[in-house]
Amino acid sequence: MSRTLLINGQWRAAVNGATLPVLNPAYGREMGRIAVATPTEIDAAVQSAAAAFPRWAAASGRERARIMHKAMDIFRTQYLDEAARLLTQENGKPLNDSIKECSYTADVIDFYADESRRITGSHFAGDLGATHSFVWKQPVGVVAAIIPWNFPVDLLAWKLGPGLAAGCTFVVKPSEEASFAALKLIQAFLDAGLPDGVINVVTGAGAVGAQLVQHPDVQKIAFTGSVATGIRIGEQAARQMKRVTLELGGSAPCIVCEDADLDAAVNGALRRAFSHTGQICISVNRIFVHERLFDAYAERFAAAARALHVTPDGLKEPNADMGPMINEAGAAKTRQHVEDAVAHGARLLAGGDAPSGEEYDAGGYFYNATVLTDVTPDMLVMCEETFGPVAPIAPFSTLEQAIALANGTPYGLASYVYTADLNSAFYLARSLRSGGVGINVNDITDIRGPFGGMHMSGIGRELGEPGLDAYLETKHIRMGYKLPGG
Ligand code: NAD
Repeated sequence: MSRTLLINGQWRAAVNGATLPVLNPAYGREMGRIAVATPTEIDAAVQSAAAAFPRWAAASGRERARIMHKAMDIFRTQYLDEAARLLTQENGKPLNDSIKECSYTADVIDFYADESRRITGSHFAGDLGATHSFVWKQPVGVVAAIIPWNFPVDLLAWKLGPGLAAGCTFVVKPSEEASFAALKLIQAFLDAGLPDGVINVVTGAGAVGAQLVQHPDVQKIAFTGSVATGIRIGEQAARQMKRVTLELGGSAPCIVCEDADLDAAVNGALRRAFSHTGQICISVNRIFVHERLFDAYAERFAAAARALHVTPDGLKEPNADMGPMINEAGAAKTRQHVEDAVAHGARLLAGGDAPSGEEYDAGGYFYNATVLTDVTPDMLVMCEETFGPVAPIAPFSTLEQAIALANGTPYGLASYVYTADLNSAFYLARSLRSGGVGINVNDITDIRGPFGGMHMSGIGRELGEPGLDAYLETKHIRMGYKLPGG
C-alpha cells in the first residue's frame, strides 16, 4: 500500500488504489510506489488546509516558531539520514550531496521560524484630517506548493519555511519522480505537533498538480519547475487572480574576464556545471572566456571534466562527482543537444558519451561530463536549457560582446562572473539580466538573499525577506478619530 497522501493529519492510500512507480535512476528499477490522488482526495486536502487556516493564522509567531524549530530538531536527529538515502535512491545524487540538501533544508526552516516572530506592520498619521493609517501583514491563505525532482526536499523548505512562518496552510504536491525524501520532512512536522491540516500532501503526476492549481479555495501557488509547466500554471492562476511564485528554468552564463584567477574560474565553473549531473536550475550552462585566456581555460577545464567520476551508485560512493541523470528523457535530451552542436560544427573536448563498464549496465541513465568548443548562439546547448552535464565554451573579446552573448537567451535566473577588477565586476553585475549574479563565486544562494528569475525564468522571489513577503497580503486600515472640540 502506498500511503503517501496526507489529509487532515492522516497518511492514506488513494481511495481507488491507484499508484505510480518511482524509479531509482541508477538502475532504472522501481524503488517504491506513490499513491495517485483522485479529485475527491485533492478536494479533501484543500478543504483540510482551509479548515486549519484560521487557527494557524491566528497562532502567535512565537508558537509557530516553537513548532517549526522542534520539527527541525526531530528532522535532524531522527529523519535526516533516512531522507538523504531515499533522496539518493529516487533522484540519483551522490549521498553526500543528499545530506547537504537535507541539512540546508533544516537551516531554511529554522531561519524562517525565527522570522515568524519578526512579522510586523507599520503605521502613519493620515494626510487629510484626523486619521491614522495602519499597514498590516496577513497570511495569504491556502498555498499549493508544487515541487520538482531535482531538489525535492530543499525546494519544499523554501516554500514551507516562509509560508508556515507567515501563517499559511499547505497542500504539497511533490514530484512524481522523487516524493519519498520530502515526506520524511513533513513527518517531522507532524511529530512536532503541527496541528492537523496545516500541511497536507497529494502525490501523483502533473495532472494532480493541474487539478490542485484550479481549486477555488487555493489562494496561492508556489511552483518550482520547468518553464512549460510554469506558463500553464501562470495562465490558470491569472484566470482566478491567484498569487503565484514561479521559479523556472535557466541557462546561466559564466563570464571569465581577462584578469580572472584561472584556478578559481576553472574549478568554480566545473563544479557548477557538473554537480548533480548538470540538473540544477542555476547550473553553469554557457562559459564565455576572454580570448587571451581561452585556449588555456578550455584545455584545463576539459582535462578536469574528463577526470570527474560518475558513480554507478551514489549510496556506495557518497563523495562521487556525479550520479545518473533522472530518467531516460533527461539523458535523451542531453544526447540530442550534444549531437545538434556537433552536427553544426562544435568540437568535443570531453565526454559526449555515456560511461562504459558493466557497473553502468544495470539500466541506469548515465552521461559523462561533456565539454564543447566552437559553439554558436543558435545551437540548442547555447539557447535552450539542456538540464544535463554539458558545458559549451566560447571566446569573447570585449565586455560588451560578453554581455550580449550572456543576455542572449529568454532566461534570466543566474549569471556568474570571474574577474579581479572592481569596475568590470560592477559593470557586468548591472548589465547582466538575471535575478542573481555571482562574482568570483559559483553559487548565488544565501538564505538571507532573494532568489528568483527575470524573463522566462519566473516571477517572484524565494528566500530572504521577499521570500516571506510572498506569503503575506498587505492590508491598509485607515481610521478616523475626533480631536477635542473637533
Ligand atoms: P516539471 O515542470 O516537469 O514538474 C514540476 C512539478 O510540476 C512536478 O511536481 C509535476 O508533477 C508538476 N506538474 C507538471 N505539470 C503540471 C501542471 N500542468 N500543473 C501543475 N503541476 C504540474 O519540472 P521538473 O522536470 O520536475 O523540474 C526541472 C525543472 O525545474 C527545470 O526546468 C529546472 O530549471 C527547474 N527548476 C527551477 C528552479 C528555480 O528555483 N528557478 C529550481 C529547481 C528546478
